[in-house]
Amino acid sequence: MQRLKGQAALVTGSSSGIGAAVAKSLAAEGAKVVVNYARSPKGAEAVVAEIKAKGGEAIAVQADVSKEDQVLNLFEQMYEAYETIDILVNNAGLQKDSAFTDMTLADWNTVIGVNLTGQFLCAREAAKTFIRRGVVPERSCAAGKIICMSSVHEVIPWAGHCNYAASKGGVMLLMKSMAQELAPHKIRVNSIGPGAIKTPINRDAWETPEAEASLLTLIPYNRVGDPVDIGKAAVWLASDESDYVNGATLFVDGGMTLYPGFATGG
Ligand code: NAD
Repeated sequence: MQRLKGQAALVTGSSSGIGAAVAKSLAAEGAKVVVNYARSPKGAEAVVAEIKAKGGEAIAVQADVSKEDQVLNLFEQMYEAYETIDILVNNAGLQKDSAFTDMTLADWNTVIGVNLTGQFLCAREAAKTFIRRGVVPERSCAAGKIICMSSVHEVIPWAGHCNYAASKGGVMLLMKSMAQELAPHKIRVNSIGPGAIKTPINRDAWETPEAEASLLTLIPYNRVGDPVDIGKAAVWLASDESDYVNGATLFVDGGMTLYPGFATGG
């Protein structure tokens, strides 16, 4: 349908999993995509090749989103290639799990640094360009769109993952505060809250039939999500079809946030 024709998109951490699916989904709708990766270029190059093979446009750019100088360089490289930015998908994220009393400061800082500070740094750079440039009506009714990859754990507490849950809870109010502040500039800021999606980040939770059966007890819709489920939601939130949606988290979780334990009890 080419709903994002001619728009320039940056998807952080898009060399694998959800980010890779989002990058491919945006490209299939006509966006030119910067496929950001943290370290090894292999996955990002494969995503770029797949997009190009389907007639789309994409480049791979390295940057650790938790480092300010690398984020500035990422945006410079994006502007050299595509001149501007219309869509930012703040997707890069990781987990460093442990029992609360065993959690090291290093693991706390790494998770907050990538999952929360990384979203702040990239959103700030994108917002500066959106404000300076304003709306380009041929491309979109909005001056820019920011999509934050949050999680059901922005609202569901998660024992053994305090750093991760804190980072996603932080993303929720970062997203809403940005949405409130940037709306007068015609910038829309929203989040996607994935439930359990099959990617490398949570392999242990779905790799064996036993693990998957246990995971399914948390999902009323009774299937584990596919990265493409998130790609479709990202396209909608980036497109003018969602023009009046601002400051919302779209949970794409098969009902995981519906307190499934209460289906038979309570
Ligand atoms: P993934 O491990 O496949 O992808 C994470 C990506 O982030 C990787 O490409 C990784 O290289 C990149 N990354 C890590 N640190 C980075 C850094 N410092 N700079 C740039 N990139 C970096 O896992 P995924 O499941 O695709 O996760 C993507 C996002 O979705 C994350 O924010 C995660 O929290 C969120 N999420 C995933 C699930 C799920 O069930 N898979 C559920 C809820 C939220």
